[in-house]
Amino acid sequence: MIEVSALTKRYGSLTVLDGIDFSVEAGEIAAVVGPSGAGKSTLARCINLLEQPTSGSILVNGQDLTSLSRGELRTARRAIGTVFQSAGLLARLTAAENVALPLRYLNMPHEGRVQRVRDLLDRVGMLHRASHYPAQLSGGQQQRIGLARGLALKPSVLLADEPTSGLDPQTTASILALLAELRDELRVAVVLITHEMDVVRCVADSVAQLDHGRIVEQGRVADVVRASDSPLSRALLPVPPSAEPTDAPNVWQLRYERTDVDPAWLTSASRELDADIEVLAGLIETVGGETAGRLKVRIERALPPARIEQAFAARGIRATRSATPEEEVDIAASALVRSAA
Ligand code: ADP
Repeated sequence: MIEVSALTKRYGSLTVLDGIDFSVEAGEIAAVVGPSGAGKSTLARCINLLEQPTSGSILVNGQDLTSLSRGELRTARRAIGTVFQSAGLLARLTAAENVALPLRYLNMPHEGRVQRVRDLLDRVGMLHRASHYPAQLSGGQQQRIGLARGLALKPSVLLADEPTSGLDPQTTASILALLAELRDELRVAVVLITHEMDVVRCVADSVAQLDHGRIVEQGRVADVVRASDSPLSRALLPVPPSAEPTDAPNVWQLRYERTDVDPAWLTSASRELDADIEVLAGLIETVGGETAGRLKVRIERALPPARIEQAFAARGIRATRSATPEEEVDIAASALVRSAA
């Protein structure tokens, strides 16, 4: 596991990371999100020891990486595997040779190396591409090879910096499925740096939002989407846009607050309120193994707001008067969405 405490990084008078605390357990995927310039890459470079933090500590399996000598650092670095946006494979080497690179640096004997490379390629489903060159592989296949190389030294931490950026949705899904497998089967602690909220929702167990070098919100993904109505929560589980005007008096926003919301809530709430409920837009998904939902509905009858709130609260759903269009534009323009640029 990895534990980052009070991590600060300054370049001259510019503070880029300002007291970052977060930890990732073995078998957990922790996403770090935030707008461009928030400090994500700097955090990644500190974690994989390409940058020396100004202060604070980075513990990997209990060992503080910031206090090591150069020689010790070389050994300690093996505990951290890295995979980047572009797999960064060497064009002149085959897939197998690329995966073997870290093992060669370690002077691993030829025979053991061949077997380990086979195992790794098999692990990422690329054994049949062992002797292909990167140019002969698709983006997704290259990323699989990059993952195999990142795992070559049996790291306990995998640092994945925008690993699905630029991949099509289907390839993204297959890489995320692979990451989840690695988490579950190899029990690596994965630090996943991304600006893609779908990626966080699909695969991450926890999320930390970085802004101006500080963590402004942090928690289990399932808790953040359910228990909070913050910009991060809305970015993770957005209500899709609907053509309906949102400032009508009978338009409401609903958010699942409990994990045990009865799927038949629409019918039962409609009966209790004696009013038709029209779903204008919504997203209901399994997040971290728990159902989460956010919807916009129209209740086709004027009722006291407290009565509506109570009817939904009894079903584990928080009902609030819908945001005005101006507020929605604010949300869309929030730092998180800007980060997609
Ligand atoms: P992100 O990855 O979230 O886009 P970065 O970590 O790249 O953010 O950058 C955070 C801030 O740190 C930016 O303002 C950037 O200009 C600054 N920065 C990054 N690296 C350096 C450096 N080597 N020297 C000075 N400033 C830097």
